[in-house]
Order: sequence, then C-alpha cells, then structure tokens
Amino acid sequence: MEPIMCPFCGGMNLFQEDDLSLEMDFEQWTVHHWECLDCGQSFDKIEIRPESNKFEEINESTIH
Ligand SMILES: [Zn+2]
Repeated sequence: MEPIMCPFCGGMNLFQEDDLSLEMDFEQWTVHHWECLDCGQSFDKIEIRPESNKFEEINESTIH
C-alpha cells in the first residue's frame, strides 16, 4: 500500500495493522487499517476487487 496521511490531523506517523481479507460472492474485499500515532485516530481503506477466477468457474459449470 502507498503511504497515506492521517485524514484527521495530516500526520504521516501511522501504524498499519494487518490487512483483513473478506471473501464475498463475486468480490474480494481487502480492508487496510491504520492508526495515527499523532492524534490516536484510526481509519480504514477498503479495496474491492472482482473475483474474476470464480466468475469463470461458475460460467463453465453452467455450460456443462
Ligand atoms: Zn492523526
């Protein structure tokens, strides 16, 4: 992940916790979680990617 600033105080002194991955039906959610060491606020950023591989599998199984 690219370094980002705290949205509350603009500080760059951030602690990144482990990413959390969530499997949705057709999507993979990756939740990035940071805690600002300057002001103590925490914030998240969620990345959503389509699961193209699963999509193809489902299409194939309907054909056969
Ligand atoms: Zn902050």
